[in-house]
Amino acid sequence: MKQVLVLNSGSSSIKYQLLDMDDRKRLAVGIVERIGESAGSVADHAAGMRVVLDELQEALDRSNLAAVGHRVVHGGDRFRGPTLIDDEVCDTIRDLIPLAPLHNPTNLTLIEAARSAFPDTPQVAVFDTAFHQTLPAPAYTYAVPKEWREDLGVRRYGFHGTSHQYVSRRAAELLGRRPEEVNMIVLHLGNGASVCAVREGKSVDTSMGLTPLEGLIMGTRSGDLDPAVPAYIARQTGRGAEEIDATLNKESGLLALAGSNDLRDIDAAATKGDEAARLALDAYCYRIRKYIGAYLAALGRVDAVVFTAGVGENSATVRAGAVAGLEKLGIAVSPKRNGQESKEARYISPYWAETAVLVVPTDEEIEIADQALEVLGRAG
Ligand code: AMP
Repeated sequence: MKQVLVLNSGSSSIKYQLLDMDDRKRLAVGIVERIGESAGSVADHAAGMRVVLDELQEALDRSNLAAVGHRVVHGGDRFRGPTLIDDEVCDTIRDLIPLAPLHNPTNLTLIEAARSAFPDTPQVAVFDTAFHQTLPAPAYTYAVPKEWREDLGVRRYGFHGTSHQYVSRRAAELLGRRPEEVNMIVLHLGNGASVCAVREGKSVDTSMGLTPLEGLIMGTRSGDLDPAVPAYIARQTGRGAEEIDATLNKESGLLALAGSNDLRDIDAAATKGDEAARLALDAYCYRIRKYIGAYLAALGRVDAVVFTAGVGENSATVRAGAVAGLEKLGIAVSPKRNGQESKEARYISPYWAETAVLVVPTDEEIEIADQALEVLGRAG
């Protein structure tokens, strides 16, 4: 039995999955939360790793552990694919901390902890940005001074790459085509949310930018706004850059519009006539619709629109709202198919629609595990 341990650290959490890659089964799944938040909680990510090891004791078979796969948030333009971790790779991830000041440091702490816990097991970094390294220059370039672009790395990087890659490949399978044959728009709608334009298996545009703040309205992030808004708020209120950045990332989006970042609550409240919830839902769907239009234009031909992640996989309301009015463009959902709940990858478009509309459950952990083994296969 070949095992792979997948570790995914947020700023205050560690999610882990132990996978049996022969049967593609989950042997253990867990999360260590509220790291470093209060006295009595787990102190840091190194201590969190010890909790993970404790919880894995029964399921883990060290002699059959083929790899540890780490999700790393920001690979900048330095990593275009999964990478076998050594000291130099750690140094490069450290160099990229300015681009992801909350995530890359905890990713690194966890990598170091896992390297000492499993000194003889290969560790592989899988970057959230890597899939989007195929963006062409016109799509990733911001029209800002050369110094910002060249010395400070200001450009679109994009995130959720592992999910977009997995989902676009699964969607091609469902269409019965090879990834190289199809163009699609993938909508990853979770607490964080992003859209990806995929041409012939490669990412050619995506809605998140230098950081995950740009693009769609999210649970607590504003998504797109006039870039002058932060300066305006700073002038009017005297607030600093860090505070405004935190507000746009943690206290905006659906939470700011409707008082909740959970679409289940917002959908229920809107149905009961709550006007703030209605506006939040309508704005959320409208933003998605605008991106579908933009990426139709970017791709020229679209074979499928694909919904994934917590909201995309579960909310028929959002799926219907996102494509409302796009029938003339060949994009629609069948109310009956859209309304059926399922955990399976499936079609929800009507028979007459030119473009397939699909729901494909994402699985970032299995993708990370597959990519980790792929790197080892290449290395060995
Ligand atoms: P994720 O980040 O992919 O785990 O997605 C989490 C989000 O999915 C939650 O914040 C919810 O808003 C949303 N979600 C989960 N289940 C449902 C559901 N049945 N209906 C609507 N939204 C859901």
